[in-house]
Amino acid sequence: MTFAEPPRTRTDMVRLTDPGDAVPEDTVVRDDLRRTPPRLPPWLGYDAVGSRLFEQITELPTYYLTRVERGLLEHHAPEIAAALGCGRIAELGSGSAKKTRLLLEDCVHLRPTTYLPIDVDEGMLRSSAATLRSGLDGLAVTGLWGRYEAGLEWLRTHPGEPLAVVFLGSSFGNATREERDGLTGEIARCLRPGESFLVSADLDKSGEALETCYNDPPGHSAFADFRLNYLTRLNDRYGADFVLDDFVPEAWYDPDTSTVEGRLLARADRTVHVPGLGVTLDLPQGRFINVGYSVKFDERGLADEVGAHGFTPRAQWVDSRAGYGLFLFRREET
Ligand code: SAH
Repeated sequence: MTFAEPPRTRTDMVRLTDPGDAVPEDTVVRDDLRRTPPRLPPWLGYDAVGSRLFEQITELPTYYLTRVERGLLEHHAPEIAAALGCGRIAELGSGSAKKTRLLLEDCVHLRPTTYLPIDVDEGMLRSSAATLRSGLDGLAVTGLWGRYEAGLEWLRTHPGEPLAVVFLGSSFGNATREERDGLTGEIARCLRPGESFLVSADLDKSGEALETCYNDPPGHSAFADFRLNYLTRLNDRYGADFVLDDFVPEAWYDPDTSTVEGRLLARADRTVHVPGLGVTLDLPQGRFINVGYSVKFDERGLADEVGAHGFTPRAQWVDSRAGYGLFLFRREET
């Protein structure tokens, strides 16, 4: 007796476990909460609620980043796809991958392509993979569900067709310099000489423009809700007793470090317990918890920073009016 072959699915999902040397999630959150000022790691904000709120942020009339990046991809995707010249595209923090689709459409015109999105939000990975598959013949998707480090480790241990790593949405700037150096080093270790790293970056500009971009315009609350969702996550995951109304969400630009900081300011003196992590936080009135950095770059600084890990600038596509760009680097021989 013969059985009909089951339909071949072109979407796989790999649940990444942290590699042995990576720091477990709870340890990262505990260590970050114990910093001065306390901080929450960016990935903690992206559960189903956080991802939905982030999508709302991208549609705010004042949030130019997504629109500008989409415009760059709409105009230059064929050229970028040709420059990447590879059969596997991995993306860090892929989210909805709506903009990535513009690039992948041109990639599959050139050759069959495997897309490897890496994201902590499983629901978002599954829905973006399903959306991408429809209408994109020649695209296979293997979702890598977990944190960046684990995704990069997976890529390193699963060699195959020539690979490019892309990092869109200016998310590279959500990490501190030390974290970025760690990540860029790991990206370099995934790539063979001649392979590409494409990263988008928001360029430094006036504090007024940036604070307008990173705060809610009148009548909207996507940023506030997104920032407060970090506290809900702590309450749900670790039994914390944060009262959301006790905190004021805001964005503040530090011109000395060219960084926008998302903050949750205590309205009054507060002591908060996070029993699941064994942490008690004393937050006097006006003190804040950091819920995200958005570092702004200059082109030279970015090239030097990434270049220190064995990359050479190869091409760039910059919207100079908006001060935002896509930067392509080539992995050099070591
Ligand atoms: N690249 C998309 C989404 C940006 S939002 C865009 O440009 O619109 C950031 C995305 O990265 C979210 O989907 C979040 O879940 C994911 N993310 C953030 N930190 C992460 C980490 N350390 N590891 C894996 N995914 C992460």
